[in-house]
Amino acid sequence: MLIQVAPLKSFVASIFARAGTSEAEAARIAGYLAEANLVGHDSHGVVRVPRYIQWLKEGRVLADVTPEVVVDTPVIGVVDGKFGFGQTVTPVAVQLGIDKALMMGLSAVALRNSGHLGRAGDWAEMAAAAGLISIHYVNVQGSLLVAPFGGVDRRISTAPFAMSVPLPNRPLILDFATSHVAEGKVLVASRGGKKLPVDALIRPDGTLSGDPTTLYGKSEDRNPENGEGAIRAFGLHKGSGLAFMCEMLGGALTGNGTCGPREGERGRITNGMMSFYLRPDVIGPVEEMAARAERYIEFYKSSRPSEPGGEVLIPGETENRSRAERGAKGIPLPDDTWSSIVATAREVGLNDTAIPQAA
Ligand code: NAD
Repeated sequence: MLIQVAPLKSFVASIFARAGTSEAEAARIAGYLAEANLVGHDSHGVVRVPRYIQWLKEGRVLADVTPEVVVDTPVIGVVDGKFGFGQTVTPVAVQLGIDKALMMGLSAVALRNSGHLGRAGDWAEMAAAAGLISIHYVNVQGSLLVAPFGGVDRRISTAPFAMSVPLPNRPLILDFATSHVAEGKVLVASRGGKKLPVDALIRPDGTLSGDPTTLYGKSEDRNPENGEGAIRAFGLHKGSGLAFMCEMLGGALTGNGTCGPREGERGRITNGMMSFYLRPDVIGPVEEMAARAERYIEFYKSSRPSEPGGEVLIPGETENRSRAERGAKGIPLPDDTWSSIVATAREVGLNDTAIPQAA
């Protein structure tokens, strides 16, 4: 299925609205999910619709929540997302951090009890659009999926890390899961999408695997609780260490709870995010920083490719290319993903006439 982003957004929005969110929240959730597909992160795109709707039905995520600002100093904020959709509560926390940093030069905002907040890079992009440098440490309470370096048992979440450096002509966005692959990429692979690297997962006996059943077992509903293996942390001991620190800052510090046992609310998956924001013009003239950065980017990218036809890319470059390409041609969705969304639409009571056709 190849579909343009606009009809995809409105179809997905109609599913959420029908399932009980306000029209505004439905449009917001659909917007962020479809944008994830647009930038090439299908793992955080509309493939999530069936799971989000199931969580909404089960009361594991709540519709139209107003997050509570529980600490509010000139430079520090703490926001409780109260189990609302991440796409609704996270922008409130990020905007708080932006407003404080624009006023004071620097700020730190802790977000806890947010529903799945999608691509951490969305929030780095939001900060960059306001002209700010930002760093985000995220954890996923209730989602134990990753084996630490040196272990086979699941002890960490896929804990993403993101940061932004705004340049006048292009924001630089680094954004990744601290696991070898994001869980959504295992989900996408299990539904017929892009295959996993052969060393992405680890079985209980320590052997490596690229087979999604290592994580999900044979279950149709792709429930990671049914699998015996784990996703591996990225970057050996260094990635495992960064994931550990995401649990410390995003989980232990924010109050979200780490992904360890006896933390958080049973059955709920919540993101915690510790974010730092900085106004670069307080450090020095931004035009000078940008000129130095652009010279460095040229130098960085001039490294000879390690493989014939290869190329050195800077953070955010693949996403920008995908945005341009998929924006023009449409978003490709595997048949399995598309049918699971259509089935969800029917389940919530949408008429077949609401189902868009291929681009
Ligand atoms: P990934 O492995 O595709 O890495 C993406 C990062 O690497 C980007 O910054 C990209 O610009 C850069 N990049 C990609 N190819 C590159 C290349 N060839 N050269 C140089 N840089 C390159 O991403 P991922 O780890 O699969 O994460 C996917 C998404 O999942 C992220 O948006 C992340 O925030 C999200 N995520 C969210 C949660 C959550 O609980 N909300 C959990 C895990 C991951």
